[in-house]
Amino acid sequence: MRDTSLLQQALGLTPPWTVSRADFDPEAQRLDIQIDFAPGSRFACPTCGAADCPAHDTERMSWRHLNFFQHQAYLNARVPRVRCEQCGVKTIGVPWARPGSGFTLLFEAMLMTMIPAMPVAAVARMVGEHDTRLWRVVHHYVDQARARTDASGVTQLAIDETAARGGRDYITLFVDIEKARVLFATDGKDAKTVAAFADDLTAHGGDPAAIAEVCIDMSAAFIKGVGEHLPEATITFDKFHAVKIINGAVDQVRREEVKSRPELKQSRYVWLKNETNLSSGQRQTRDSLAKSNLKTARAYQIRLAFQDLYDQPSAEAAADHLKRWYFWATHSRLEPMIDAAHTVKRHWDGMLRWFTSNIANGLIEGINSLVQAAKAKARGYRADSDEGGHLFRSHGGHHSDLKAATLPI
Ligand SMILES: [Zn+2]
Repeated sequence: MRDTSLLQQALGLTPPWTVSRADFDPEAQRLDIQIDFAPGSRFACPTCGAADCPAHDTERMSWRHLNFFQHQAYLNARVPRVRCEQCGVKTIGVPWARPGSGFTLLFEAMLMTMIPAMPVAAVARMVGEHDTRLWRVVHHYVDQARARTDASGVTQLAIDETAARGGRDYITLFVDIEKARVLFATDGKDAKTVAAFADDLTAHGGDPAAIAEVCIDMSAAFIKGVGEHLPEATITFDKFHAVKIINGAVDQVRREEVKSRPELKQSRYVWLKNETNLSSGQRQTRDSLAKSNLKTARAYQIRLAFQDLYDQPSAEAAADHLKRWYFWATHSRLEPMIDAAHTVKRHWDGMLRWFTSNIANGLIEGINSLVQAAKAKARGYRADSDEGGHLFRSHGGHHSDLKAATLPI
């Protein structure tokens, strides 16, 4: 190609950089663009910024760039090492790529636009690169996003665990409720996860003592961790987890009773689903079973009454409602329900805190599904590799900003 000015303009090169030539190889389906700098050019020192450093020598480098139509394109350049009076001999940075990358910034930007939408494996196949090179790019931008995270001003936190690696392990997520963003994620679901979060929060300009409200499930580990590491936080027990405990009691009552009452067979979800999610058939089954004298039907009524808690108009009304409910549940002669009521009793203040804090973990459920989708995507191409197995970079057991990992740029 004789006229290189079109390429020079398209690449946005400015002096001293120029396109010196371009070679198209139709058989290799490859375009090679040679970039050079004007003889006698002087450069800023990459370390101290001193201007006017002369080139000491040069090093040949090349970068994969955006395709030229259907053909792969590469930028090739002699990159000068400059001689700085203060710092000695240093390789300068080039404006089209970041140091150490074999891709141009535009190529990386394209990768990071595609990766949220499809498995890294698929992107790797499409662009004809090995996935480990793509993962390196992902990790770089995730780390960068993570380093930029400003956690100052965080006062409301949701904490929840999610199953990882086929359910064998857990990751605990820490979410800034006000900004709906993941602040931190780490392996495990014990009290130490809260300690690690508090350290990370501090490292990103936040203050553990500024966390005023925390929403968690009733796990003793989280209660302990919050008590030790978020000293000013008031706990709200997540309402969905609370309802789940009561639902568990209903299910236990049914499983016991089905042994003597075969009509309860296959009625599990009839009792566990919310009214609006029942099919008309399920609703009929429920209505007809509810008329018989069944322990399960009684447990179900107690569950409905528990859910009414969250429709109470005030904290006072809620406290009264919960007292009445507790009395009913503990006098129900249904062992699983009595146990569940005792669990509620032990977490009384945090159960009622919702009426003041109004916080729940629903947000995390949404993020969990993103996490699961991201893991499924990552698995899509590398089921056997631990690195490919997660989209999240591990730093000594801690994972980077999931939001940045799943939604880069
Ligand atoms: Zn210097």
